[in-house]
Amino acid sequence: MTTITRFAPSPTGRLHVGNIRTALHNWLLAAKAGARGDDARFMLRIDDTDQERSKEEYVEATRADLAWLGIVPDGEERQSERFHLYDAAFDKLREAGRVYPCYETAQELELKRKIQLGRGKPPIYDRGALEMTDAERVGKEAEGVQPHWRFKLDHSAPITWDDGVRGPQKFDASLISDPVIRRANGSWLYMLPSAVDDVEMGITDVLRGEDHVSNTAAQVQMFEAMGATPPRFAHEALLVGTEGKLSKRLGSLGCDSFRERGIEPEAIVAMLARLGTSQPVEPIAERDVLVETFDLSTFGRAPARFDDAELDRVNAAIVHQLSYADVKHRLPEGMGEDGWHAVRPNLAHLGEAADWWKLVTGPVDARDFDAETKAFLTEALAALEWDDNPWHTLTAALKESTGRKGKQLFQPLRQALTGMDHGPDMGELLPLIGESEVKLRLEQAVG
Ligand code: GLU
Repeated sequence: MTTITRFAPSPTGRLHVGNIRTALHNWLLAAKAGARGDDARFMLRIDDTDQERSKEEYVEATRADLAWLGIVPDGEERQSERFHLYDAAFDKLREAGRVYPCYETAQELELKRKIQLGRGKPPIYDRGALEMTDAERVGKEAEGVQPHWRFKLDHSAPITWDDGVRGPQKFDASLISDPVIRRANGSWLYMLPSAVDDVEMGITDVLRGEDHVSNTAAQVQMFEAMGATPPRFAHEALLVGTEGKLSKRLGSLGCDSFRERGIEPEAIVAMLARLGTSQPVEPIAERDVLVETFDLSTFGRAPARFDDAELDRVNAAIVHQLSYADVKHRLPEGMGEDGWHAVRPNLAHLGEAADWWKLVTGPVDARDFDAETKAFLTEALAALEWDDNPWHTLTAALKESTGRKGKQLFQPLRQALTGMDHGPDMGELLPLIGESEVKLRLEQAVG
């Protein structure tokens, strides 16, 4: 079996969280097929037919974002290098009578729409151009009007496919406008090039947002008109913000903002892999597990809600799993494996490791202790013994000699030694701070 999926962004902007999700799901679909023994590939297709709006910097940013997320394509194609394929397909479809020239201006089309809507009818293109005589066409061109081109849908039978998420789909082609596939200046709209590439690249599975469902209906007929079997289609529900709407903010939320916020790529991946499915979002850092459990049949029809607070929770839980080897190049200077293990449980994101590390390297904020606490800390100074587990030894001795316990016992020590009311486990911090510095801090505390 062969499974080839693709992610097809238009390089007219940075990837946002919705695109990232589509890319990830296509990657997961291929990876799962690969794990099953299929000849599987995940392709990146750059949809850059719009040469004015497409920018090289966005192509590069897309590659970099995917690399950061660990979503590695097995190949890349660019539509701007494939115009000859679209021309050839266009010519064939035209010969077969499936593509026809239209001369209406945008204003004329808008007027037709308004009239239809005013009559309570759906605004479907009336195929006026098909009624034109050759002489009328020649006349238009003599006036200097260049035609744009539509794909002629076949109205004779319903369009059907079995959608991987939505189940069996059925569309009446007469309720869809013949799509414009090429502009008067010869440039391409998305529809035909995409179908041509899906055939030519051997794409077996098209997984994309449900905003493409009506495109799919038209494209199914394009595949058939080109003599190709349509790929399997699956349309996932869209991603919305916590307020339940497609938000502007989500549209601008991308890898840069995640990185700045200290979100690990594995956290986004873990969250987006499961969001909108019946499987729980869990802080799963192992890709293999996400691949194994990825299952289109668990995808729901309701919009998937993207919640920042949930991402923060997943991120913290992912950070708590990272090994020293994973992160050592990102840790503050001098922080070794023991240091990492001491601070790791306290981190919401990796950047905080530097803050906690300052408790070890000092200086710590001085506190103004009352006389009673100073007396207690003086006793601590005397009781300090630097063995295998100095914190345990010290607190056990003080508990015995002073009768203090719980917060009363631990809090003044923590405050004197770290300047903080809370923080990493003191038993792990003490050896990192070191004997002489611990003594010094206690001495400073008692003044
Ligand atoms: N470039 C199209 C888009 O970003 C691709 C859609 C598709 O997956 O076919 O919407």
